[in-house]
Amino acid sequence: MTELFKLIEVKCPNCGKLKNINIPEAVFSQKKFGTIKIQIPINAVCSEHQFIAFVDTKGIIRGYERIDIQMTALSPEAEREALGRLNLRNLIKVFGLYGIFSLIHAKIFNYPSYVIKDDNFEYTENLLNSVGDNILPETYQGSKSIHILEEPNVNKIKVKDKDALIMDVSQNIYQTPWETKLKFEEEIVRKALDIIDEQEQLKLLQQHISKFISEVHYAISILQDFNQIYDDELIDKISKALSIKKISTYRLNLIKKFISRNVSKEIVKKIKNRVGEFLSLV
Ligand SMILES: [Zn+2]
Repeated sequence: MTELFKLIEVKCPNCGKLKNINIPEAVFSQKKFGTIKIQIPINAVCSEHQFIAFVDTKGIIRGYERIDIQMTALSPEAEREALGRLNLRNLIKVFGLYGIFSLIHAKIFNYPSYVIKDDNFEYTENLLNSVGDNILPETYQGSKSIHILEEPNVNKIKVKDKDALIMDVSQNIYQTPWETKLKFEEEIVRKALDIIDEQEQLKLLQQHISKFISEVHYAISILQDFNQIYDDELIDKISKALSIKKISTYRLNLIKKFISRNVSKEIVKKIKNRVGEFLSLV
């Protein structure tokens, strides 16, 4: 099968470097998903920066998002040794950094994920789900939410879940059912990659996610005592209860999202926004 390509001009959002790159025609012939995210790894356009390009079905670039993680190169021996193992580094090779952030986000916030495989893809659905489980605390394991799609034609894909993450193994992301920037996921992946031991990398991801979920549990226990509470008060209470630095509004929004997607939408309604209330009075 000959694969047709379309040449599009891509511009590094960091330094403005321009380069034409080939994108498979099939990516654009899909009309189902509209704008898709294409991951541009280091050296594809720019030797220093990697990013995501938002491309519409006509091949026009609608925007960019930067990815700030620098992956240090392994020595050739270490590279050879790590080959074929299911570790973070190899997963990033397959899915791209943004693909991994997305899969982690989907796992934490309970969205189903669909991966369109190609002939070279060697991981099974069970294996991917067990890695996904490994980064979650035990109570949230076992959802088997990652699905592999054998159908290579994007237009023929049938996915029942409207709120699914849909991506392929060529670093194209067709659908992300969220608007959130994946800053939390980027941060924990960056920290994990700083560690050389590959077993420890996944463990570290799990530790960061568990820490986040313990904040969620504190938030829920605080919310049980209130009919309603302002967001800034809740931030103070969570931070004090856990003796941690004051959590950010972004973090609180993640906590709210976790509760509403994994526990209950009703509990989240107790949290009032002081700014929002003020604005509605003006
Ligand atoms: Zn650049």
